[in-house]
Amino acid sequence: MTANIKANQTGRLQALDAAHHLHPFSEQFGLARDKSRVIVKGEGVWLTDSDGNRILDGMAGLWCVQVGHGRQEIADAVHKQMSELAFYNTFFKTTHPPAAELAEKVTSLAPDNFNKVFFTSGGSDANDTVFRMVRLYWDLMGKPEKKTIISRWNAYHGSTVASASLGGMKAMHGQGDLPLPGVHHIDQPYWFDEADGMDPESFGVARARALGEAIDELGEDKVAAFIAEPVQGAGAVIVPPDSYWRELKKILAERDILFVADEVICGFGRLGHWFGSEHFGLEPDLMPIAKGLSSGYLPIGGVMVSDKVADVLGREGVEFFHGYTYSGHPASCAAALENLRIIEEEKLVERVAGDIGPYFRERWTILGDHPLVGEARAIGLMGALELVPAKPSHRRFEDAGKVGLICREHSFAHGLVMRSVNDTMIVCPPLIISHDEVDDLVARARATLDVTLDELTRAGKMG
Ligand SMILES: *Cc1c(COP(=O)(O)O)cnc(C)c1O
Repeated sequence: MTANIKANQTGRLQALDAAHHLHPFSEQFGLARDKSRVIVKGEGVWLTDSDGNRILDGMAGLWCVQVGHGRQEIADAVHKQMSELAFYNTFFKTTHPPAAELAEKVTSLAPDNFNKVFFTSGGSDANDTVFRMVRLYWDLMGKPEKKTIISRWNAYHGSTVASASLGGMKAMHGQGDLPLPGVHHIDQPYWFDEADGMDPESFGVARARALGEAIDELGEDKVAAFIAEPVQGAGAVIVPPDSYWRELKKILAERDILFVADEVICGFGRLGHWFGSEHFGLEPDLMPIAKGLSSGYLPIGGVMVSDKVADVLGREGVEFFHGYTYSGHPASCAAALENLRIIEEEKLVERVAGDIGPYFRERWTILGDHPLVGEARAIGLMGALELVPAKPSHRRFEDAGKVGLICREHSFAHGLVMRSVNDTMIVCPPLIISHDEVDDLVARARATLDVTLDELTRAGKMG
């Protein structure tokens, strides 16, 4: 294509998009003015836009492309399945080979007490399933009063009515009168922003004890479950202090409530284990999954159900009146099976634990020396940078979120996808990223920070 045709194509697509496409989590007005980026190709950790620019995909699509872009094996597996059986449902005593095979595969990868999975189309509807399933569980246990689900402020569990209620994003709650009744939020373990001078150890313990206090306040006989991401992803890659999960485990062991570990981001190798819970030694009763399950090649999610819950749901005469047309979609299951085969064959989980994870952490945290960065943290293959006007203070820029957006624009201009959450920059690259590509990612992030700092200094925003 000549440059001109390319430019015309880009303009045409941007115009169509601006005129007709309502985007998720986007300010429509600004998007129409500034034009969407048109991504046309993916290969490994690289994206190509419609103008031919190569961009390093520091966010693995949207936290999901574990095996990298452009894996022909997955396209072939899906093609084969669709030629055979593109769709059939899993309601009413029917199944098909990919759903049965994937159910076996994914439970074989989970801790021993997980032997059942309920399939969904993604993570939000997995958490809707959780919402209904925990209440049904307690009804069946003869404790119908146990209805309240405790979650954390700034958690992300999805965008549907129930999952957004479980989430703790206040901006989301502000639209549509959420949360639903029966969801209670406690404070999160965000040390950098909320510790107010407390050391990480004591802060972690205090934030964990908030669960025990909430249960006492609400009454243990009223509480159905506690839901949490092992590491909050969308919240800003919030790595809890070591003391946090240690203390929470004690509290959960003493209380008769279900524990739901939302593994939608942390699962499938992100933290160097098949499930993020294993990294912290957690023992959940339910684990919603999605994203890395299929590396995003086709939409699929699920809820991993432990024996404790599955045995009750499996009692004679019990039917869970719940399901999605695409629960266990054959093509999605085929994509997931091939994705898991690749993760195993290429030992990507082990690679994150023992090789690329530690290397990434070493390189990424060096960015903490930058004058704009108040803290650089990493865990597994996720990283965050806290942007501040004056180190070592944790004080934030006025007008929270503006600086993050400026930095995000510079990042794209430097050929790197970094995401901003307020004034925190985050990355979560594909698990196949090479050492050289990690160096490249960090170099682009540093160049991005340099120009952002220049701009802020000129505007008198630093200090
Ligand atoms: C992305 C995400 C979800 C929602 O998944 P969707 O597939 O977007 O519906 C739920 N929980 C967590 C932790 C997530 O990161």
